[in-house]
Amino acid sequence: MNRRKFLSRSYLGATSLLIAPETISGLSKNKKPSYSNETPLYAISTWDVSKANMIAGKALEAGFSAIEAAVNGVAYEESNLLNTTVGKGGAPDRDGIVSLDACVMNHTGNCGAVLAVENITHVAALAKEVMEKTPHVILAGKGARQFAIKQGYKPENLLTEQGKKAWKKWLKNKNYKPEINVENHDTIGMICCDKLGNLSGACTTSGLAYKMSGRVGDSPIIGSGLYIDNKVGGAVATGLGEEVIKTVGSFLIVELMRSGLSPQEACEEAVNRILEKQKVKPNFQVAYLSTNINGEVGAYSIQKGFSYTFYKNKINKNISSDSVYK
Ligand code: ASP
Repeated sequence: MNRRKFLSRSYLGATSLLIAPETISGLSKNKKPSYSNETPLYAISTWDVSKANMIAGKALEAGFSAIEAAVNGVAYEESNLLNTTVGKGGAPDRDGIVSLDACVMNHTGNCGAVLAVENITHVAALAKEVMEKTPHVILAGKGARQFAIKQGYKPENLLTEQGKKAWKKWLKNKNYKPEINVENHDTIGMICCDKLGNLSGACTTSGLAYKMSGRVGDSPIIGSGLYIDNKVGGAVATGLGEEVIKTVGSFLIVELMRSGLSPQEACEEAVNRILEKQKVKPNFQVAYLSTNINGEVGAYSIQKGFSYTFYKNKINKNISSDSVYK
């Protein structure tokens, strides 16, 4: 199977094919290595998402570009029904409807995003199609769904039985508050560096559980949930999107790195920008993950419990992040 066919099949539902790391390395055997093996390649992702990050790492090793690796990596979590914060199986809004948000940004500074999309699982891949096949950057709601169907995506019911049960339970009290680190995974923000040293990223989420209908968080907003500048580095965010948007978190981190801060210092400063606006100790989480063009990585969060996954030199590790509150 050639590479183009592999990628298109994977987006259109044959996800198990896509997500098996062995499949990716298998494919690489048929492929002439197009890049030198000397450039350090790596993949980083928010939270403990070892399989998704491993898929991206293996895709990079096989010579796929950073954007292809990132979109294929996050696709694993988009179709993981046990992950209730991303893709199919994601928690619905207050009306019981699952709507997804995602964006991608590549090394040329090109980007694409989809907002509040219903019935489509692989929204990061869809955001990449918006970037590549339309004159726009963002498609929202019905238009994004129609575009997906035109591109051959199969509409699916994203609300699982388990998701429906949890929603019905929530309806009893309708208690709406952002919860801190409920699970050890959440929105996935992933940044990949390929064999050419190019950076790209993807960010995908079902947003806050039981959000208002139409609510969109930071994740699909370029500069908030994700930002890449191939001359400087990249950053991704997770947590309470409203607070990330107010400080344009990922763009801020990249600009701080441009002015000389390390990825770690830049993440800490971006968290501080949120905290300095709070009158009392915040009861929400925001976490940032960033990298610069030297391959250095930084992470920082408001509350404890945030971690990230780091693939490099064929090793995939989950690493705990430092936080303001211990
Ligand atoms: N940042 C996401 C949002 O606000 C949610 C999350 O990361 O948990 O939609």
